[in-house]
Amino acid sequence: MTTDLFKPQKVQHPIRTRLLEVKRVTELSPAMRRITLTGDDLAGFLSASFDDHLKLLVPEAPGAKPNIPTVGPAGLTFAEGKPRPEMRDYTPRRYDPVSNELDIDFVLHHDGPATEWASHAEPGHWLGIAGPRGSFVIPTVFDWHLLLGDETAIPAIARRLEELPATSKAIVVIKTAREDARIELHGQCERDVHWVSETENSPAGTGVFESTLRDLTLPQGEGYVWAAGEYSDIKAVRRYLVEERGIDKSRIRAASYWRKSAANSHEHFD
Ligand SMILES: Cc1cc2nc3c(=O)[nH]c(=O)nc-3n(C[C@H](O)[C@H](O)[C@H](O)COP(=O)(O)OP(=O)(O)OC[C@H]3O[C@@H](n4cnc5c(N)ncnc54)[C@H](O)[C@@H]3O)c2cc1C
Repeated sequence: MTTDLFKPQKVQHPIRTRLLEVKRVTELSPAMRRITLTGDDLAGFLSASFDDHLKLLVPEAPGAKPNIPTVGPAGLTFAEGKPRPEMRDYTPRRYDPVSNELDIDFVLHHDGPATEWASHAEPGHWLGIAGPRGSFVIPTVFDWHLLLGDETAIPAIARRLEELPATSKAIVVIKTAREDARIELHGQCERDVHWVSETENSPAGTGVFESTLRDLTLPQGEGYVWAAGEYSDIKAVRRYLVEERGIDKSRIRAASYWRKSAANSHEHFD
């Protein structure tokens, strides 16, 4: 039975742009770099959900300052005659108002302006951000949470695991391209973590997400599925969960975080 207790809430935030400076760079794995940002502009930053995203405003070259748009009634407005920064979506992994730090974790193993910037980032470099513009707040009261995704979803999944209370149960399925991309996950909740790779023996015609899910018995009670990753993978996962496992669509938040052969792709399947 659905009650308001189980209903995700949409929260809007006034849009704000910020120019931030790299404070620290941490290698989380050979496939992921954490960039810690700081600056006076960070004051008042708000991120209400692990599902949030920022628009990164990527400078033209490492070390350069991006041209920061102003915010008007029509949204972001860019100054005439100046190069527009490339914009890409990333998860605010951790914000600490006391140390005035914002962490963003970047997957490194493909080409693209955001990845290129992150690969060369060092203290003193600049990055612009806009948002988050809104948050989709999924209640923590569910009996179980299935969190599924590829490396681009690790920041959101890791943040969710740290935010869930000790009474929660999380089932986690994360696909990485290489085994050394697997990182340590923290949090108080009970968790059952499955790190998988496409090279493992998936039955013909199904991806490793689906073959892993087929072997999983989901717990009894009220549950919620959050899934993000490559477009075709997540579309197939959602279809499998709805059509073959009978999970109600209102209990699934599924998003494409990137798409093969397409730059800057973001789509929701709900
Ligand atoms: C809401 C949201 C939150 C996200 N959070 C994060 C995050 O916290 N950390 C993170 O690393 N990514 C995250 N992503 C994914 C990230 O936005 C994309 O991977 C983005 O395309 C990277 O930009 P780019 O400039 O490096 O590459 P683009 O210029 O966008 O793409 C260049 C080429 O690289 C390919 N490509 C893009 N991403 C990948 C990939 N992961 N693996 C292989 N090939 C790829 C594209 O198909 C394209 O051919 C998030 C996406 C969304 C929508």
